[in-house]
Parts: sequence; structure tokens; C-alpha cells
Amino acid sequence: MNLDVKNVREWDLFPVEQNPLIIAGPCSAENEKQLLETARALKNNGIHVLRAGIWKPRTRPNCFEGVGTQGLEWMRAARRELGIKISTEVANVKHVYESLKANVDLLWIGARTSANPFAMQEIADALKGTDIPVLVKNPVNPDMQLWLGALERLNLAGLKRIGAIHRGFSPYGKYKYRNMPLWQIPIEIKRNYPDMLMICDPSHISGEREYVREISQQAINLGFDGLIIESHICPDVALSDSQQQLTPLALKEMLSRLVIPDRSNTCFQENIEELRAYIDEIDTELLDILARRMKICEKIGDYKKRNHLTILQTGRWNDLLEKIFQQGQANGLEHDFLQQVYQIIHQASIDKQTRVMGN
Ligand code: PEP
Ligand code: MN
Repeated sequence: MNLDVKNVREWDLFPVEQNPLIIAGPCSAENEKQLLETARALKNNGIHVLRAGIWKPRTRPNCFEGVGTQGLEWMRAARRELGIKISTEVANVKHVYESLKANVDLLWIGARTSANPFAMQEIADALKGTDIPVLVKNPVNPDMQLWLGALERLNLAGLKRIGAIHRGFSPYGKYKYRNMPLWQIPIEIKRNYPDMLMICDPSHISGEREYVREISQQAINLGFDGLIIESHICPDVALSDSQQQLTPLALKEMLSRLVIPDRSNTCFQENIEELRAYIDEIDTELLDILARRMKICEKIGDYKKRNHLTILQTGRWNDLLEKIFQQGQANGLEHDFLQQVYQIIHQASIDKQTRVMGN
């Protein structure tokens, strides 16, 4: 279906001149002092929309699960004192009800909720008849239809101030970032719905504060409208997502170092940047896969040592190469190229096993 959305410039939420649009605040509201001190510092540093999680969807039990409704009172106090707009995450009908009662300015739907159509429909029904802005994070799995479906449910409930937040997709095992950006998915959505707000959440993609800047810059280069970034007055003692939060000062510095591209050359810029982003992402995956392959070679070396086997087992290698050539050629990769690449990989794996076997 076609989404009928209102352009963010008509939302009356962000300052008109702001580019990129910024939402910032702690992962979680923890206590009144932490929230107010963070909000004051952020407001001083030019932030106009505060974020804070009140109900926290934690992956594992027995973690800090948020302060609940009382946190909304602290957010309202921040708004009264500073004139800052306030936003929080809702995951069920009760959260919606409490947030509407507190007159929250902006809601977002978390990644674990947008993955669940039942929850999304209940939230959409609870929001029917309101005009509150709602941002939908991508589901944890890379399913564009599920993400769009969540936005469609809100749109069908009559909400037009809706937008998407790209927070990356869960990887299996260890990866450079906490979540894989898979930029092609949000870009595809942007291409189909150019009027819809698209925000990037570099904090949850990166998982580490040192990567927040590079992800933010990437998003800006790709034409995202804004960023939602976690910031805590004292990240080291944060009760959730401590590693990825920036102090308000570090956030200000990071934002001031971002290069905002010249949009007069948008078409060319987006194209080359998109392609480069894909390459960077694929390289990250490639390195990750090579490292995993090497680890397994190490285990095989260890096994051969314990079982007194030789390193080189020609039969096995020939079978493997045959399979690689067939698979590679079906994917349009040339025989020579595969031969060269696999020669190097094989040599590196023999070297590794030799070291493990202590020869
Ligand atoms: C959050 O924004 O703190 C959060 C829980 O994010 P996500 O839904 O992206 O995991
Ligand atoms: Mn968080």
C-alpha cells in the first residue's frame, strides 16, 4: 500500500533550520537527577528533542527493565523547565495510554515490538484518533516487509506523522558492530517513500561509543534526515547500554565534526555513497568470515595433531576446490579469480595449522 505521510517539516517538532534532525537522551530514565542533568546539558548543547526509555525491552531477564510510569513525570519536569520536547518507547497498550496521558510529544516503537504484528496492531488501535508522531524502528530481523507493515498499520489507524528509525539488524555471533547496518534496506524504503522521515540510530547499530561517529556520518552521506543518539550524563554508570552512550559534551563534539554533504549534487552523491556503503559493509562481513574460517582451521590443526594426521589431505582439498568452482561460477565468478583467492586462503590455512601442530 501507499503510505500517506506528512512531511517532517510540518510536524512542528524540530527547529526548522536543524539539519540533520537530532533526538538525544539516555537509553533509560534511571532517576530524576540523572534525567534532568542529562536533559539540561543536552538542551545547552542545542538538542530540542529528548529521548529516554521508561519501559525497557531487555533481551534477557533479570536486567534493569526501566523505572515505569514515574519516569514520565521526570520527563515532563524536563519539558517544563527547559521547553525540550519529550519522547519515549511504547511496546503495548498500557504504555500508549500512559504516554498519551502524560502528553508525550513523540513515541517510538522498539525493534522487538515492530517484529510482532499482533503487538503493532494493538498499538495502532490504541493510537487511533490521535495525531501523535510515531517512529518505527526496524524489526530485529532484516525483513523490510515487516518494517513497512508496522508503518502501514499506524497509517491505516489514521496517523500521518510517522517515520522510520534504522537501528540495524541482529547478527549471529560476533561482528564489528552490535547490529548489522544492511544499509540497502532503509535506502530501499527511502527510495519508495521519499517523503517519509528516515532517522538513523547509530547508538544501537554500533554498540560502542567509538563507532557512533562513523555510523552517523555514513547515514548523513546516504541522505538520512536525522539521528537518534543515546547520551547519558555519566555513561559509565548507566544502567543500560553503558558502552554506547556519549556524554552530552562528547555528543556535541561528535555532531560538530560531521560533514554535511552539499545537497545540490544529491543524485551523484547518493549513488556513489550508497555503493561505497555497500562495499564497506561487505568488506566488514568478508573480514569477519575470513577470521571465522581461520579459527576453524586452528581447531582442525589441533584435531589433526591429537589424531596424528598429516596437514595436507589432497583428496579433501580437491573436492573442496571442485565445489568452490561450481558454486562460484554459478554466481558469475571467474575460474581464475577463484583459483587465486583460494590458493591464498589455503596457504594461510596450512601456515596456521603448521603453527598449531608445532612443526
Ligand atoms: C532503545 O532505543 O533503547 C532500544 C531499546 O532500542 P531497540 O528497540 O533498537 O533495541
Ligand atoms: Mn538503548
